[in-house]
Amino acid sequence: MKTTPVTPAGGPPPEHQAAARALPEAMLAAHGLPTRWAGREHFVVLELGFGLGHGFLACWQSWRQDPARCGRLFYVSVEPHPPSREALAQAHAAVAPHESLHAPVQAMLQAWPPLTPNLHRLCFEDGRVQLLLALGEVADVLPALQLQADALCLMGSSPSLQAAQAEKRVLKALAARAALGATLSAWRMPADGQAQLASTGFVLDPTTPAAPVHAGNGEDSISAEDSPPPLTQARWAPRATQATTPRRYRSAAPAKRQAVVVGAGLAGAAAAQALVQAGWQVTVLERHAAAAQEASGNPAGLFHGTVNADDGPYARLFRAAALQATATYAQAVAQGVPGAAQGLLRLDARSGGLPALQTLWQRAGLPAGYVQVLGAEAASALAGLALPAPAWFYPGGGWMDPAAWVRHTLQQPGITLRTGAEVASLARHDGVWALLDAAGAVQAQAHTVVLANAASAQRLLAGLGHPPWPLRHTRGQVTQLEGPHPLRLPVAGDGYAIPLPGGVLCGATREAGEPGVPTLRLKDHLHNLQRLQRLTGMNSGHGLDDGARTSAEHEGPPPTWPGRTGWRLHSDDRLPIAGAVPLAEMPTHQRLDQPRLLPREEGLFVLTALGARGLTLAPLLAQLVAAQATGTPWPLEHDLADAVDPGRWQVRAARHAASSTG
Ligand SMILES: Cc1cc2nc3c(=O)[nH]c(=O)nc-3n(C[C@H](O)[C@H](O)[C@H](O)COP(=O)(O)OP(=O)(O)OC[C@H]3O[C@@H](n4cnc5c(N)ncnc54)[C@H](O)[C@@H]3O)c2cc1C
Repeated sequence: MKTTPVTPAGGPPPEHQAAARALPEAMLAAHGLPTRWAGREHFVVLELGFGLGHGFLACWQSWRQDPARCGRLFYVSVEPHPPSREALAQAHAAVAPHESLHAPVQAMLQAWPPLTPNLHRLCFEDGRVQLLLALGEVADVLPALQLQADALCLMGSSPSLQAAQAEKRVLKALAARAALGATLSAWRMPADGQAQLASTGFVLDPTTPAAPVHAGNGEDSISAEDSPPPLTQARWAPRATQATTPRRYRSAAPAKRQAVVVGAGLAGAAAAQALVQAGWQVTVLERHAAAAQEASGNPAGLFHGTVNADDGPYARLFRAAALQATATYAQAVAQGVPGAAQGLLRLDARSGGLPALQTLWQRAGLPAGYVQVLGAEAASALAGLALPAPAWFYPGGGWMDPAAWVRHTLQQPGITLRTGAEVASLARHDGVWALLDAAGAVQAQAHTVVLANAASAQRLLAGLGHPPWPLRHTRGQVTQLEGPHPLRLPVAGDGYAIPLPGGVLCGATREAGEPGVPTLRLKDHLHNLQRLQRLTGMNSGHGLDDGARTSAEHEGPPPTWPGRTGWRLHSDDRLPIAGAVPLAEMPTHQRLDQPRLLPREEGLFVLTALGARGLTLAPLLAQLVAAQATGTPWPLEHDLADAVDPGRWQVRAARHAASSTG
């Protein structure tokens, strides 16, 4: 997907503001809402033109007030010129505290993200209302969305949104995302747009008024505030040939909304949380006596985004993931889990210094709410001590106690944790997966299984005949220093320093090697201390106990220094593995050169290889897995989902074979 910086706009032009306020009610009526969602598990609205959020708020409000509402409301909105939080606040300033709309408005303002060009997932009502904001031009963004919409709303008044209504490729992209029977409503759709609806599988409603010949000429704008805006209305009812147009792989949610997750680390806890948010019941099987005993057991870890000159898939994935991580962990911190989501500094000592960073930041066009460039002095003022280099400041970054977050998450209603339950193999009979122990006894059964058990996921899949992924481990050790210190924010660079309530955690070492006995090594502690000194200047002069150094200089027994050793699991392309597992054996003559073409194991998903960024990646990728399992809109664009697809090596091999024979 092409990304260009998004430019905030203040809302529709003055002559259309009255219409923008009147539209939402007309839009709901045009789609038969709220009646149409009654009794349904979920309902998906796809809107072109978020504007100032009037459509979303009206839909949410209608959902809130409807006792027969659907279980979950997904509102996906594409907006090339999203409003700033200030513009939104101003637009809804007249909503008084006693009005029922006040709480939704405040929640929306609080969740409003930095306006980066990607898909933003905003959660309300404990996840039962989700706003997926796709920021960017319609023609770029729409084809990257994976969803099946029940209602398509084309309400935007800006010139680019109006032009999009008459573009065949936009209408085709909408058709490819319409559920059978989906309804479409459009405001000020030009005649050439209406004419193209039929060729893309939409049937125009006979009540639709004649359209103006050109978009944006204002012929049908509203003159009086109380007159309902005339809308183009249609229904997606494709002819047989149109309906069979190849569509991207999509899972149907199984009737039984239950899942088993294997592994109780960050990946497993995040997957369980995402499925519970979707209304499922989840059993988590963990081989140890408690959760988070392996890679996710460190006392603290960092989460933050990234900036890259080319803004390629890696940077975009980590940006989207970091934004989701901030929302997830800020909520956990508010509930008492140790951590902070109040900013993180990443030192960057590249040649060219501060001007080079500023040039890169300006070229990337990323908003200050996501990342800023600070000189060493300004960064030092935030950190609370003198830093040696300029820094990237991620206001939404921070640190989290991963083990505490895992334990906290697994206590949620709807999740059952079973410890001491090692899964030795998987088998599938009559559409149900059985998870077996080493003696072959069934430990649990479910239609849907998520393998979140790090490298062991590979072993379980090998038992089903799956080819191995190219994975490797790196050993890492962190060092904990106790005592008072001046550090106020986590600082990363060559190593990291995390301010904990009673000290500082620094680390982490990195050394290739397979998991073994997790002993602490003195040389690794010393390495961490040296980097802490270089990064922050901190040493025992700050009151920190650097007993490790003392012990190293004097002969004697190795120190019993607080710290922890673990192993990170990486794939060869440094990207995680998340999504539906492809079949072990592909049918012959099956095209395999696109992830969407790969046939999948029914109900089998994986979330692993989170590398050194499990805290950042787990919440968003778990939502991706849950969306695939439940058949709801994906929180990630196609190309990014492809980048983490468990079948990407099969796709690469197929492409390689095609290019070498072709
Ligand atoms: C030293 C160090 C520092 C790090 N620092 C950071 C950091 O600052 N920020 C960050 O984001 N990340 C950091 N990481 C990486 C992060 O810890 C990992 O990415 C993350 O913990 C991986 O989570 P996971 O759930 O995939 O794996 P794990 O935490 O290993 O969880 C897998 C779970 O599956 C269980 N399991 C395995 N096989 C079975 C089976 N057959 N049956 C039942 N249960 C099974 C295991 O017991 C385990 O509990 C660091 C890692 C290390 C080692």
